[in-house]
This record gives sequence, C-alpha cells and structure tokens, in this order.
Amino acid sequence: MVSIEPSKDDAFLDLLLSAFGDSVLLGESIPASCHSDWTGHAACRPLALVRPTSTQEVSKLLQLCNQHRRAVVPQGGMTGLAGGAVPTAESVALSLIKLSGVENVDQDAATLTVRAGTTLQAVQDAAIEAGFCYPIDFGARGSCQIGGTLSTNAGGHGVIRHGMTRDRVLGLEVVLADGRILDLMNSMIKNNTGYDLKHCFIGAEGTLGVITRAVLRLAPPQRESRTLLCALRDYPAAVSLLHRLRGTGLALEAFEVMWQDFYAMSCEWQSNQSPLPPSYPLYVLCEVEGDASHLEMVLAAALETGEVQDAVMASTIKQAQELWAIREATGEFPVKLAPINFDISLPIAKIGDFVEAAGKLLTHRWPGIRIVNFGHIGDSNLHLTVDSNSLTENTSATHHAIETDIYGLVGEYRGSISAEHGIGLLKREFLHHSVRPEALNVMHALKQTFDPNNILNPGKVLS
Ligand SMILES: Cc1cc2nc3c(=O)[nH]c(=O)nc-3n(C[C@H](O)[C@H](O)[C@H](O)COP(=O)(O)OP(=O)(O)OC[C@H]3O[C@@H](n4cnc5c(N)ncnc54)[C@H](O)[C@@H]3O)c2cc1C
Repeated sequence: MVSIEPSKDDAFLDLLLSAFGDSVLLGESIPASCHSDWTGHAACRPLALVRPTSTQEVSKLLQLCNQHRRAVVPQGGMTGLAGGAVPTAESVALSLIKLSGVENVDQDAATLTVRAGTTLQAVQDAAIEAGFCYPIDFGARGSCQIGGTLSTNAGGHGVIRHGMTRDRVLGLEVVLADGRILDLMNSMIKNNTGYDLKHCFIGAEGTLGVITRAVLRLAPPQRESRTLLCALRDYPAAVSLLHRLRGTGLALEAFEVMWQDFYAMSCEWQSNQSPLPPSYPLYVLCEVEGDASHLEMVLAAALETGEVQDAVMASTIKQAQELWAIREATGEFPVKLAPINFDISLPIAKIGDFVEAAGKLLTHRWPGIRIVNFGHIGDSNLHLTVDSNSLTENTSATHHAIETDIYGLVGEYRGSISAEHGIGLLKREFLHHSVRPEALNVMHALKQTFDPNNILNPGKVLS
C-alpha cells in the first residue's frame, strides 16, 4: 500500500486556515486580480490569499509566516506599475482590502487618520467633507489604497505644489516581519526625537514592513485655477518660464512640458484639434491658482521677451478640459501604441539635453524608432515613451536593449531610473544606475535588520 505523506504546504495551509478561517482564500477562489498588478507582469496564483481585518491579525499572520519561513507579498489596490505586488506560487498574498476606513479627521491639526486599505479616493472625499483637501492625486485614485501610495511614495498631479506622498505623512503604524507592531502614529508637525523611522517604510514597496495605519497631513481646500498652453522655441525657455511663474506669487499647480513629437501626435488623435500650431519645438501646459489678470500680466511679459512664442488661456471649464486632453493622450498609449514607458527623473536643467541624447542614441541603433516625450518638468520627471510598433525587430531582447541604453544614459546624467512608480520587479536589475554601491550596501543591511529571514516581498527592489 502506498501512503501519501501530507506536503509541507498542506500542513502550513492547515495552520493558516485554523488561525484565519474565512479570511483565507485558496486555489480558484483567489481572484485573478491578485495574480499580478496593473502591468500584468509575471501573473501567478499565490499559495493563499489572506485578508486580515485588524492590525493584530496582520501581526499574527506575519508571526506565523516568519516562523515557517513563508514569503508574504503585501497587496493594496494592485494598480502598481513596477510589479511590486506580484506574488509567487509559494507565497502568501496579504491583501489589506478589509483593513479600511477613515478613523478620524482632526480639524485643529488638519490631519486625517486612516487604515491602510482605504482607497485614495475615499481619503480625498473625507478631506473635502471636512473642509480640507488631500492633495495627492492621480488616475488610479478609485482603486489604489493609501497603504499602496505610502509604500510606493506615489507622486501624481500636484507634486510641484504639495510634494510626494512622503511629504504628507506624520505618523505610521507598521507590522514588522516577525509580527512586532511598531507604533509610530505621531500626529504633530514638530517632533525631532531621534531617527524618523517612518521614512524607512515609505517607498519601501512592502519589503521592510506592512503599513496598517497612517496619520496624513491635509491641505487647505483647492481654489479655482487657470489653464494655460504656451508654445516655446526651446527647452531653456521652458526652464525660464518655470522660474518666472514660480516668482510671481501665483501658486503653480502643474507645469507639463510636451515635446513636439508628443504634441503633434496627440493633436492628431484629437481629430486634428490644435489650439496652437504643431510647429513649435516645445509646449507647456500650466495650471495656476490665483487672479486671472495677474497671470495675464505675467504672460504678456513672457511673450514680450520671446520666452513664450504663442499662448492660449482657457476661459471656460470646457476649454480647460480640451487643453488637458492633449496632455492626457498618455491614457491612450496602450491602445494606440505598443509603448515601452520610462518614468525617470533628471536634474531639471539637463532634461532638454537628455531628450536629445536619448533620441540620438536610440535612432542610431534602431533607425526609424518612434519616441515621444513629455514631463512634469517642475518635479524633474520625464516620461519618455518608445512605440515598439516602430521597431523592425520587435522582440523582448530589443526591448531589454532599449531599457539598458536608456537607464545607462540616466546613470550618466546622475538621474533616477524611477521618478514615482518604484522599482518592484521590473527595474531591479537597473537599480545600480541610480544607487551607488555604498548606498546599495546600506539598503541590504537595512533589509537584513528589519527582515532577517527575507520573508517580506522577497526579490522586490533588491535582488
Ligand atoms: C491609471 C494609473 C495612473 C497612475 N498614475 C500614477 C501617478 O501619477 N503617480 C504615481 O506615483 N503612480 C501612479 N500610478 C501607479 C500606482 O497607482 C501607484 O503606485 C499606487 O501608489 C499603488 O497603490 P496600490 O494600492 O494599487 O498598490 P499595489 O499595486 O497593490 O502595491 C504597490 C507596492 O506597495 C506594496 N504595498 C501595498 N500595500 C502595502 C501595505 N499596506 N504595506 C506595505 N506594502 C504595501 C506592494 O507590495 C507593492 O510593492 C498609476 C497607476 C495607474 C493604473
């Protein structure tokens, strides 16, 4: 008679089920949305999906997994663009979806306390209801979770004025790999008491701890703003315009630079609606809060010096939306192009040179390659996109060669290979282009300190 030994997995799953009961999903009951993030990269069903409802349950789960050396992959809204939340077949996916809700808004301190699984949209709504605003904003607001935005240090539209997610955080609650709960729920603006540990977990992509709660700083409610599209002769003129607008006392909400390749393509997509002729080298879309006549004066001065060659200011909400539609053509990239997207940052003064150098480098190796560029230049962020349909040899080896060239060039310019989306799985092999060997060693040492058994999101960020 053949006796069937229960597998190590079966024994572990029994432990999980007896500790967490209905909060555990196995096999086909695990939704496909938990197999990969927005990138669809390396989709895989995890061994189990656990959805704790409290910090104590997260702690208990990590204790168990640490004891049994089981990999745990924290999952938020799965809208990440770097493969950070992608599980492996042996890992336990830890979804924060049931640890949600805004706990309170402190009107005096202008802070909001929230559980990690709450969507960004729900936080924005609660802030508005209380007479404030939570100024982190981007397209995935309805699905991404606060825990995910903290773990990726997300940016988005308002960074030029309000900073990245890191700049909005006063306190955190984090569960460490061995289950210890770290209470860092500070709610005061001034608090210099040794190392500010919360910053270790913000942007760590779930590799150092699981964020369960946070205290966020709110901003005053948003006021009406003006939308302006300017045509420019070259990149230095864009940098001068940025200086000019910053020095006016007007609040700059967005400063989006579109190179001619991007602008002309986008206008063509909007049924050839082109508010300014598509013949200028560069276009800037600005969103400015403040008095319209003040802005008109600033613009007149910029036109007089030739810094701005031509301009149009929206006078209705519809016109503003039409101007933004040109910039938001990026939403159509996955449908109309086969995009290889780069989310990089560079010293502001060098972005123009970089775009030129990258164009020359890629065109030399792949004649006829199509490249389009736009950037949140005020945040030093450039989005360079290659349409892989324009390649004669459209293979994964060519894609990899393009990435290697671009990230190598970013390294030469002392830029960053990830401006806002993180490293995850997709950029791990290129990390050395932006992080010096000494700093990489310190990162490994930090990982070893917080997670000596390497159970938290192993293989992400660091190899
Ligand atoms: C349409 C669209 C537009 C976007 N626009 C922007 C943009 O403008 N700017 C920008 O920065 N990003 C943008 N993103 C990327 C993405 O939305 C952000 O990275 C977001 O912060 C991810 O949140 P999430 O909850 O979906 O995290 P997930 O994708 O679930 O996870 C992201 C990472 O965080 C970890 N993680 C998640 N929750 C926790 C937790 N509680 N504790 C510890 N680790 C955790 C995961 O392990 C993973 O490494 C966009 C994405 C889409 C789809």
